[in-house]
Amino acid sequence: MAKEDKQFVTEITSQSEDFSRWYIDVIKKADLMDYSPVRGCIVFKPDGYEIWEHIQQDLDRRFKETGHRNAYFPLFIPESFFQKEKDHVEGFNPELPWVTEAAGEKLEERLAIRPTSETMIGHMYERWIQSYRDLPVLINQWANVVRWEKRTLPFLRTSEFLWQEGHTAHENEAEAREETMKILDIYRDFVENFLAIPVIVGQKTPSEKFAGALDTFSIEAMMKDGRAVQAGTSHYLGTNFAKAFDIKYLNRENVQEFVHTTSWGVSTRLIGALIMVHGDDRGLALPPKVAPKQVMIIPIGPPKTRDEVVGRADELFAQLKKAGIRVGIDDRADVRPGWKFNEYEMRGIPVRLEIGPRDMENGVCVLVSRISGEKKVVQQDQLVEEVTAMLDQVQQEMYDRALAFRESHFYSVDTLDEMKANIEEQRGFTLAGWCGSEACEDAVKQETGATSRNIPFDPQVEKELCLVCGQKANHTVVFARAY
Ligand SMILES: [Zn+2]
Repeated sequence: MAKEDKQFVTEITSQSEDFSRWYIDVIKKADLMDYSPVRGCIVFKPDGYEIWEHIQQDLDRRFKETGHRNAYFPLFIPESFFQKEKDHVEGFNPELPWVTEAAGEKLEERLAIRPTSETMIGHMYERWIQSYRDLPVLINQWANVVRWEKRTLPFLRTSEFLWQEGHTAHENEAEAREETMKILDIYRDFVENFLAIPVIVGQKTPSEKFAGALDTFSIEAMMKDGRAVQAGTSHYLGTNFAKAFDIKYLNRENVQEFVHTTSWGVSTRLIGALIMVHGDDRGLALPPKVAPKQVMIIPIGPPKTRDEVVGRADELFAQLKKAGIRVGIDDRADVRPGWKFNEYEMRGIPVRLEIGPRDMENGVCVLVSRISGEKKVVQQDQLVEEVTAMLDQVQQEMYDRALAFRESHFYSVDTLDEMKANIEEQRGFTLAGWCGSEACEDAVKQETGATSRNIPFDPQVEKELCLVCGQKANHTVVFARAY
């Protein structure tokens, strides 16, 4: 627990003054993380880690409901595995840390610390899959991975991060593609309904797809500074990894065939997205479904009624806890209620419950929404229903606000000049036509610093012409500067 003399709220830089500074201020003041002695790595403190645990639990349930099971593969990957898939090794080589010696001896073969596990899992699947009866293989892994990043930002880009990676193998392309899209939709639903973050669902352009994939699909979220965060990806890998690792099976006609594989993942960067989508100048704002504490009870009033009020507050605490609501109580006598209000607002707790001596007499208490500041006097004997209703309302309101923000920061342009002028003045996403050439995509990146985020499935408007060359547009693309 923080000491009273720390004036956290006043120390947070405002978002409009310096968004990056605001972000770092908030995650430190809210005690989510600390920097580690190893550059680019962070320590997840309990409040930060618990957000990840809620993400894990809900996603894990969804994976299992759709037939997936968890397994665990080793952290170290032999160098030779990476050489087997050309695009994959080119994509990941610059970011790989290597283990070259152990127990005082130089290793015969260098071991990479995994950046992702397609190669290790490909090697194992080759041994496990013999016939169509062994398919599909639907495995997920919760793990840490390492990608040695030059520029890092807590949660959003760290050298070591936590994630899940699903790896599935199927008899044919149709089934593998169905899996790829099924997972993409699980991600969309999870991020929108659990994290209250609206996303744009679509396909990555060839230059932005995963190293070794045939097709990569993503969900993209808009932060409050208008930048994008890729919130999840699902890849159809075709037979690329099956060929590299010789994963064959005997099909229903008794013929050897390569399996079709997929991989998909979300990571702890979702925590960074949560903070940047919902936070405000008062600090963190967490959607109820993912908040470590959903309600904080604060007893108020003069010393002479204190014991009585705290006694009643404890009863309310027990009621809410019994109903499965994640509730806390701060009954410290030596800390002013006003300080507590600011503190828990800064920590993003969705609902505050205040109770004082007059409320006690009237059989009521007061609920206050973190996101809107709305105060509601409710009957104590209907507390569980009232709190549940307010949590639902806060969850919905946070999604609606994020969606309204995104819609008001979404621009449709026809030319690169228009985009350049726009991106300097306004933060946000840009929708534009694209002919499909890498040169035009590159030109956008060079001129504006924005990259293609994805080709949305539902762009709302189809653009006719490429914003760079003016030729016929084959795709309508979302461009944005991204984390
Ligand atoms: Zn073009």
